[in-house]
Order: sequence, then structure tokens, then C-alpha cells
Amino acid sequence: MTTYIIGLKCVFCGEEYADQPMFEGCPSCKTKEFVSNVVPIYDYDKIAKIISRKSFENYKDMWSYAEFLPVDIKYAVTLGEGGTPLVECPTLGDGDGIKLYIKDESQNPTWSFKDRLCSVAVSKAVEIGAKKITIASTGNHGASTAAYAGRASLDSVVFTLESVPETMKIQIGAYGAKILATKEPKDRWVLMKECIDKFQWYPTGNYMDPPVGSNFYGIEGYKTIAYEICAQLGWNVPEWVVQPTAYGDGLSGIWRGFKDLYELELIDKLPRMVAVEPFGSLKKTLDTEDHIIKSVEMEPTIAFSIGTSISTYQGLATLRESNGLAVLSEDEEIKRLQQTVGEKVGIYAEAAAIASILGVERLKEEGEIKEGETVVSISTSSGLKDAKMTGERMGDVPVVNAKIESILKYI
Ligand SMILES: [Zn+2]
Repeated sequence: MTTYIIGLKCVFCGEEYADQPMFEGCPSCKTKEFVSNVVPIYDYDKIAKIISRKSFENYKDMWSYAEFLPVDIKYAVTLGEGGTPLVECPTLGDGDGIKLYIKDESQNPTWSFKDRLCSVAVSKAVEIGAKKITIASTGNHGASTAAYAGRASLDSVVFTLESVPETMKIQIGAYGAKILATKEPKDRWVLMKECIDKFQWYPTGNYMDPPVGSNFYGIEGYKTIAYEICAQLGWNVPEWVVQPTAYGDGLSGIWRGFKDLYELELIDKLPRMVAVEPFGSLKKTLDTEDHIIKSVEMEPTIAFSIGTSISTYQGLATLRESNGLAVLSEDEEIKRLQQTVGEKVGIYAEAAAIASILGVERLKEEGEIKEGETVVSISTSSGLKDAKMTGERMGDVPVVNAKIESILKYI
């Protein structure tokens, strides 16, 4: 099989291009203050002939959906990503009549949804003969890039931040990447760009300022989250999909997955997409008519995996096109909910992932999410990525002896 990709298209201006690595966005509409990502266009007529609802139901993991991916499957670098559970959460709603599901993306090979992106992006790197992979990441994307680069026998260099938790740095290093930390987030993009220009390194993520978003081939991997959700819900499309968001890669990828199914007449409606962000770059921009993404103030947050002062056009376009919403997260509320979701659902999710559950709570309070509606919250990563933060809100573990009296006051 080759691929069904027939070209690329700019998300903003619609300019079309031949398929080629265009990681710095669309040149036609780029200005000093604006850049838009491109997306692959596929031959839907050909795809329609080989897929059906029935075929999806037997699919096991992400590469089962190879016809929707931009890389020839013979180059697939895979660790069995995708095929994650959709967990129903009746006890979180207290009988509010809302059907809430968590798509548990921590069950991917490196315990985050980034594996879908990195599997596709690194496969493309192999296809085009790249020799060294690079990324600027606060953790999840870096760990995943390192794992897939290693799997493909390629070297990788991960630029991270001095402030990210040790567990993140250790995980990146454990997969064999060279890891370097800067103090300032944007310094990483400067270094990445220089290494890409000078040494032809291959990026799996953003290095543009203002940001364009991640490697557009890799973002295609996120479409499979939408395919899986539809198949898992018996082809009932949720009213809402809530995604923790920084640069809108997951948000826009999942949205385009739903659009694929709509275009192919496998579903008959589309969900509204919700971005949950700690600082609100998309929220601030969504309130305007403008397409230039607004910058906002940043401060330290436990949801550092989605911490950014500025988002991307692909994220904004997704919210506008899906009649979506942007919601702000808040650290103390995330801490409370991390415990609640652990206790009531049995999923221990990273703070940034819990932001999506907080987004659901907020939209219920505001009356946006209504009784009878189905909501899917994307739980992007495992709580073990930053266990120290969780541990800080728990007391020390009591030490007891073999006598029953020593445990009575604790149980
Ligand atoms: Zn353009």
C-alpha cells in the first residue's frame, strides 16, 4: 500500500501544495505575527471503497487505520499505540443525566497521547530518510519522541525546561535521547530551528514563533482518537469532546478525525470541541473576530504540559468551525479532581489531563453541557509522570506493626 494522500492544504488560506515536509507553516499567508499549519488532503473516493463501520470494529490499534495516515505502513514505527479504552464514568456526575466517558490515553506505550503523533511523525522521518530527530517539550512529547526515535534506530535530541519534573527528564533519558534543558521556553525553539537549518534534524514538534503547531504528519495520528471513540460508542457521536490544550495539535487532529467520518457518511453529526487551557490564549482570541492568536501572561502551573502563553491558528480554527468553546483551568481545582477521578473512576491522570474533567465541570455549571448529552473527556497522560505533585498533597504513610491495635485508628 502506498498512501491516499494527494496533497496539502493551508488551514487558514486554503492554498494547496504538493505533499512535502512543510514544518514552518503555509508560506502564502505567513506574516511576522501569523502562521498557519497545513494539513494533508486524502482521496476520499478511494478510501470510501475500502472502509466501513464494520471494518472499524475489528481494528486493534492506530495503524489499523493506515488508510487515514500520511505514511506508507511499510515504514511504520510502532509500539502498539492507540486502541485505548473509553471508560464510562457514571459516579462522577452524581446522577446529573450526562453520559461522561474518559478516553484513557495514558494506556499508550509511553503513557501519553503523544505516542499517536510521534509514531506517525517518526515513521515519516524514516520514509524520507531523516537521520536525527528533535523536539522541544515539557515532557510527554519528548519522552514519546525519544522512544519512537530509538525504536527506529535514530538519534534524538530533546530540548526541555529546567523546571519540568525529574520523572519527565528521567523518562526521556531512559529512551536514550540526548536531553538538554533551558530556562526560557522560547530558547528551545531558537535552538531547534538552528539545528534543523544547519544539520537537517527532523522535528516532531513546533519550533516557530509565533507557534504553528506540531509536525503536521504526526497530528494525523490524533484523528484515530475520533475513529476509536465513534466505534466504541456504537457510532453515536458525542455532543462534546473536551481536550486539554496548548498548541491545539490534539484538538485539531481529533476534530479532523470526526470530519473524515462525516465526509465518508459513517456518522451524521459532529461534536463541539472544547479546549481547556491554564492561561487562555485561545479563549481570549475566540472572543474576538481576529485570526491573529493573542498572547497571555503565564505563571507556574501544575498543568505545565498545557502551559503556553500563545496557542495556534489550527486550535482557533477548530473551535470556530465546531462551534466550540475554550475554558480556563485552575490548579487547586485540578488537585481536587485528580483525587476524585482516582477514587471514583480508577484512573490516575496527570494534572494537565485532569484539566479536561475540570472543563466538563465548568461547562455543566454554565449550563452549556445539558442533561442527556454525551461528553468525552480526553485524558492525555498518566499521573505517574508527576507523582511528586500528587504526593505533596498526601500525608506520610503510617508505619504499623503486626498487632491489630496498631492499625485501628487508621481504618
Ligand atoms: Zn495559508
